[in-house]
Amino acid sequence: MSDDSTAEGTFADLGLRPELLSALTGLGYEEPTPIQREAIPPLVEGRDLLGQAATGTGKTAAFALPVLQRLAADRRIGAPSALVLVPTRELAVQVSEALHRYGRELGARVLPVYGGAPIVRQLRSLEGGVDVVVATPGRALDLVNRGALRLGEVRTVVLDEADEMLDMGFAEDLEAILDHTPDERQTVLFSATMPRRLDSLARRHLDDPVRISLGRERTEPGEAPRVRQTAFVVPRAAKPAALGRILDVEAPTAAIVFCRTREEVDSLTETLNGRGYRAEALHGGMSQEQRDRVMGRLRAGTADLLVATDVAARGLDIDQLTHVVNYDVPSAPEAYVHRIGRVGRAGREGVAITLAEPREHRQLKTIERVSGAPIAVERVPTVADLRARRLELTRSALRETLLEDASEDRLDRFRVVVETLTDEFELMEVALAAVKLAHEAGGVVDDDEEIPQVGFRPDRPDRADRSGRPGRPAGRGTEARGSGGRASGGPAARLFVGAGRDAGIRPGDLVGAITGETELSGRDIGSIEIHQKFALVEVPESAADGVVRALRATMIKGRKATVRRDRA
Ligand code: AMP
Repeated sequence: MSDDSTAEGTFADLGLRPELLSALTGLGYEEPTPIQREAIPPLVEGRDLLGQAATGTGKTAAFALPVLQRLAADRRIGAPSALVLVPTRELAVQVSEALHRYGRELGARVLPVYGGAPIVRQLRSLEGGVDVVVATPGRALDLVNRGALRLGEVRTVVLDEADEMLDMGFAEDLEAILDHTPDERQTVLFSATMPRRLDSLARRHLDDPVRISLGRERTEPGEAPRVRQTAFVVPRAAKPAALGRILDVEAPTAAIVFCRTREEVDSLTETLNGRGYRAEALHGGMSQEQRDRVMGRLRAGTADLLVATDVAARGLDIDQLTHVVNYDVPSAPEAYVHRIGRVGRAGREGVAITLAEPREHRQLKTIERVSGAPIAVERVPTVADLRARRLELTRSALRETLLEDASEDRLDRFRVVVETLTDEFELMEVALAAVKLAHEAGGVVDDDEEIPQVGFRPDRPDRADRSGRPGRPAGRGTEARGSGGRASGGPAARLFVGAGRDAGIRPGDLVGAITGETELSGRDIGSIEIHQKFALVEVPESAADGVVRALRATMIKGRKATVRRDRA
């Protein structure tokens, strides 16, 4: 693979409107990610699309840009022309923010609607007219049933993270919503996995879709260079501190840190310099002369960190490079392979480090599969690890001095210092004080900020239970979802819901209602029992009152139900 194989095509080549191109430039996006390159042209043309892509691949922009591109120039109609359905409120906010950012110059009116937020405000915003609605299925259907969300003008429906929506029991809601949209609409479905249930949904609602699967391109075995590959799981907010800590422990001779956008390059460079590293930024917005200067400083050793975008780093060959750092999980496995190809050349040792967010597990697994080399997930070094490592460095430096300088008598002129001090102090104390001075002379300031130790979010541990399919009756007319599935630990509270099998309630309906209306995720929910007339569901004690309030305010399976703490 040549260094330029991921370089074909700019956003302009994808046929996007000038307003969108300038928004992307403003955001510092230098080139489309592979999924964007493949998805945008057919979507702009109006084709249906079935895409397998996880978070972190740039899939949001892959559907958001075409949706914006296709907004009618003359949109005085109040009803939305695009509807994006997402599994959680968190994602609803994230996707609508992205649409808003990309569509600013087009004056796109984007509205997120999800459970848990006051419906009155959403009703008012819908009345005022919107172009794109980003919604969780439960709330969307609620608004449709109230006549507030009119879908008759919808030209594009996007189902984002469709597997998650099915897992959360939203299958029927999705069908009902799609039934309210025009038959000739464009339908776009993105999903991280393609379970069979999703296939049947796609067959029914997608018309001759373009199929895109990320990670389909195979990298030849052995193409990935031999480098030590590690990943650290770090929450986004802790990334700068974690990167600093990892660099301190790794002590690279020279490293390149890859970021997604120009903005990220600039702000990270500034942060790193503020923390005492000698970092230089390199991105596509710089002139050739500026770039040459940066490279010169790196080669001369007056800088030891290069913070760069993929575009800017393309074709660079830096001999002294020992470490490649992915500040984010790269958007495609091929990009990862390219990046780490910059170290470990000509038999030299190289290290590739990836900072992954807790939700990016699957993306990392795909990279591991495609690059054909294992990536070890390690713990972010603690303050104690760092101190131990720094002492180790001081010890090695002293040992080197003892071996080199003592043999050539270059230490003799310090003898008088030690001798006069030993009149007053023990030799050991003198040595300790000297080590302290040497240790601190490196100018290192011990930081004592602990970085949160987190793991990957589990990959749907209870898929079958959250599927919303009718569970097998567990005797005596109940449907039970096994307990012990709650990932959060801590005390649980049992809630009584006054609707059961007679009302057609299934475990998935409760999971869907709770996750749609509150901050809880499926993993927080414990055992669920569905009885003839009522259901019992376990939630974390600390969230119980909020869940009761939220469920009372919403409809479950299209009806109001009594909800209270179970007294039994
Ligand atoms: P997503 O996979 O949609 O969750 O996007 C992951 C991240 O990549 C988001 O922070 C986007 O802002 C960013 N992103 C998406 N497309 C690009 C691009 N072409 N260049 C740089 N960053 C991008």
